[in-house]
Parts: sequence; structure tokens; C-alpha cells
Amino acid sequence: MKMQKTRQGAKASILLIYTGGTIGMVQDPVDMTLKPFDFKQILDAVPELGKFTYRIDSYTFDPIIDSSDVEPSLWQRLAYLISARYGDYDGFVVLHGTDTMAYSASALSFMFGNLTKPVIFTGSQLPIGAPRTDGRENIISSVEIAAAKDTDGHAEVPEVCICFDNMLMRGNRATKINSDNFRAFRSENLPPLAEAGINIRYNRALIRKPEDWSAPVEVNTDLDTRVSILKIHPGITPQVVRNILCGDQTRAVIIETYGSGNAPGKEWFLNLVKEASLSGKILLNVTQCIGGSVNMDIYANGKALKEAGVLNGYDSTTESALAKLFCLMGQSDDNAWVRARMEENLRGEITK
Ligand code: ASP
Repeated sequence: MKMQKTRQGAKASILLIYTGGTIGMVQDPVDMTLKPFDFKQILDAVPELGKFTYRIDSYTFDPIIDSSDVEPSLWQRLAYLISARYGDYDGFVVLHGTDTMAYSASALSFMFGNLTKPVIFTGSQLPIGAPRTDGRENIISSVEIAAAKDTDGHAEVPEVCICFDNMLMRGNRATKINSDNFRAFRSENLPPLAEAGINIRYNRALIRKPEDWSAPVEVNTDLDTRVSILKIHPGITPQVVRNILCGDQTRAVIIETYGSGNAPGKEWFLNLVKEASLSGKILLNVTQCIGGSVNMDIYANGKALKEAGVLNGYDSTTESALAKLFCLMGQSDDNAWVRARMEENLRGEITK
């Protein structure tokens, strides 16, 4: 990892953290695959950053990775880094691959409490050196948002967000929906927190603010990753459901259901759900739909899940549900405590 200064003696100060991803990759002329390159070249490729009056420092992870290699240990390193440098900067911009950006942004949103400064994730669909790259716009908008202050001198957006294709989304609401379009992310259940046009327009009614600006930021890096995801589909077999729901090493299971929270009403399926629930596992119902919410009171099949002890994930994304479980389970061995928190809105991740 290395710290590099690009500009001194200016007003706002931003730490640009490079973890990897397409934004900093180049094409290998031999096998034509995309490989990471030195972050210094990103700064050369975005000379517009020098036009800001901000101080922009950069920090490069070693190694830089394709985000499909992201592990929770990267979230812990990011959280340590940001909390260690929290007092030195007005905002943080995390350059990250798009593939798992929604997971990482969700995780950081739960790992930090009482956040008073922006942590903005961004990346790109085309490498920064490509002629039509979207990376330049994404970095510039992210830096401007990370530095923005309101009339009281507080951060405009003291939240963990994803900034992509001129949209600022709450990190734990966003999901990657397209592998080649510049609009790679969508926040279907919550409007954007800001949109970048000629000016950056903030949706101030939606932006969460800390209760006490002077209280210290909290960081919790303990994570328990014993979570599985059961995606319901026609033809799913008892063996597969048993392996996922009743596995010894699993403390919680996210059940990705149909529509408003429905799953098969067959006896064998409900018996396995009950068995997992009675053995103490935390079971959470999240819909496979990109928009809308779980409501287990509408259909008999949804109600059967509720009666079997499955929790309501409301309009949570799967990425956010996974990160929330990791964080809450890391904080407590008490499943009753985790269950109660899972149905609460902690970081603006669900609509209740
Ligand atoms: N595979 C890349 C990554 O997630 C894709 C990207 O950055 O867009 O690191």
C-alpha cells in the first residue's frame, strides 16, 4: 500500500482509495485480458482532478484486485484505513470494481455508525485509459460530492454511497443490474440521493444525517460470515434445500423468494424451513424482484413462511441483507438480538 500526495494547501481534503477493478485496468497486449495497472496512471488520466481546489491524496491497496476476488477482509482493511485517517479528510472516495461494489458499500454502511463524512464508492465499465471511458466522469463527480458541504459546514452526504453514471445512490440500496451499459447500478426502492447534471442536485429530504455531529464515528469490524443464500426456483429439490437450510456451518440463511415473499407451499419444503428455524437458524425472506417489498401476509404460501419463523427482509437487496447479517452476527452471539435488529431499519437499508 502506498500513500501519495497530489495537491497541497487547499480547502477540502479527500482521500482517494484505489482497491482495483476495471477503472484502473489495461489490456494485456499478449492475451488481451484486462489486468491492473499502477494507480499513478489514473491520476495522469484524470487531469481535471487538479482543477479542484481540494487536497486530494491517494492510497493504493496492495495487491489491487478484480472485485470478484473481494473478501470481507477487504472491508475490514477499508474500515481500518478510513477510521485511522478519519480526522485528516473531509471525505473518502473508494475506487472499486463494479462486480461486488454493492456488497462492499453495503458492508461499510453497517460497519460504520454515526458517520459524519461521505464514503463514496465508484468505478467504471470501461478502463480509465479507454477513449470513451465512463471512469473520468465517475471519479470527478464522486470527488465533488465527497467534498460538498451544506450551509452549516457539514458534509452534504454523510453516508456510504455508490456514485455511478451521474447518480448517487445509497450504497446499501444499490445493485448491479447491467454488465456492459454505463448505467450499471440501480436503486429501485429508493430514489437517488443526488443527480449530477450541470449542477449536482441533492435530494436533501432523503439524505441521512447523524444525530450528533460532534459524536465520534463508530467502527465495527467484527464479521460473522456463516450465511447462506437459498434462491428458490421451480424444480428445487429437498436435498438442495436441506443442504442449504440445515447445514451445520450456517447460522443464517437468506431465502430469495418469488414476488412479495412467496415460496413453495409443499409440505417437505415447509418442514425443512421449520426444522432450520427450530434449530435456531436466522431465516430471512428477501424477494428476487429488483423492486418492491416482501409482505408475508398477502398469500398463504408467504404466511406459511412467517409462521415457520422466517423474518421479513422488506425491500432489502440481497447484498445489503448479507452484509447486515455479517455485521450484526459479528457483534453478538445472541440470535434473538440479531433477529430483532434484522427487522429494524438501521442505515436506511429498508423502507418501513
Ligand atoms: N471484474 C471487474 C471488477 O469488478 C469489473 C469492473 O470493475 O467493472 O473488478
